[in-house]
Amino acid sequence: MIRKNTQIIKIDENNPESGKIKIAADVLKKGGLVAFPTETVYGLGANALDEKAVSNIFMAKGRPDDNPLIVHIADISQIDSLVEDIPEKAFKLMERFWPGPLTIIFNRSKIVPDKITGGLSTVAIRMPNHKISLKLIREANLPIAAPSANTSGRPSPTDSLHVIEDLNGKIDVIIEGGPTGIGVESTVLDISGDVPLILRPGGVTQEDLEEVFPKVEYDPALSIGEANLVPKSPGQKYRHYSPKADMIVVEGEVKSIAQSIIELSNTYHNEGKKVGIMATSQNHNKYSSGTVITVGDRNKPETIAASLFKVLRKFDEIGVDIIIAEGINEIGIGKAIMNRMRKAAGKRR
Ligand code: AMP
Ligand code: MG
Repeated sequence: MIRKNTQIIKIDENNPESGKIKIAADVLKKGGLVAFPTETVYGLGANALDEKAVSNIFMAKGRPDDNPLIVHIADISQIDSLVEDIPEKAFKLMERFWPGPLTIIFNRSKIVPDKITGGLSTVAIRMPNHKISLKLIREANLPIAAPSANTSGRPSPTDSLHVIEDLNGKIDVIIEGGPTGIGVESTVLDISGDVPLILRPGGVTQEDLEEVFPKVEYDPALSIGEANLVPKSPGQKYRHYSPKADMIVVEGEVKSIAQSIIELSNTYHNEGKKVGIMATSQNHNKYSSGTVITVGDRNKPETIAASLFKVLRKFDEIGVDIIIAEGINEIGIGKAIMNRMRKAAGKRR
């Protein structure tokens, strides 16, 4: 891997400075890699039409070749050259949820490089809801391929410090634009069938989508116990979002969760292991052994989404051997949170 001199540019997220945006956009136009904030997590961007630049994303992240990238746009008109057709369902979704954390799968046009789609006949597209991303994409005047700006497998970056941790010296520019708001990635939606299918739960929930369509389902391969089904979103088959420590997610009734965690924590502690407990504010006072970090309020799952990846990185920094996490209800964004927790744990529950 070639060592690069990464330029770090601080930009005001409320009022992005045009001169600084232009510097970053010029790097994108020349085929360089720029990490930038979106409302979900930080993305690692490159010109989506430049196969070489896109390959460099995979190299910098160490991302498996068959895990396709999401193309980010800033204006609906940018979609025309990227797709074969725009189905009726897509118009409804774009109107209701863009800009926002919803990625829609389209039939790709010929100009989309194979590298982006991992050889699939479809391309994933979204319009981020963040002033810096939108201004950057407009200034570059290009569709921008951007996966999360982390080393593959590690927790996604929700702050520029996380990007620096993983990618400093490997990419051209890191934009510092504050912590991201939502904290989990976009929802990936397949609209090719009669009933829209959620391939990856994310910032737009099933409940939100059912305001537009009578019924929306999850890809059955996402369910635990369906290990023999192949997920339609290739990224979902990998262990992901992972801290360095082992992780266990404890699911069930709220009361029994705390009790089980206390017992597990004692067991590991007695084995001489350094234990980290990822607690909700409802339960954090109940734990007396281990390093306890509160991730958020189980009745306000958006607070948990916003801190989840940061807390996982924090446990790595502290250097615990095992993380025991409280599971939460899979309602609303809780579905996306549990998907990320289970993946981080490699399904240990
Ligand atoms: P990331 O960029 O890290 O948020 O990951 C992008 C996600 O979008 C991965 O889970 C991919 O599998 C998914 N994705 C991208 N393109 C497609 C596609 N054409 N069909 C299905 N899933 C896709
Ligand atoms: Mg990712």
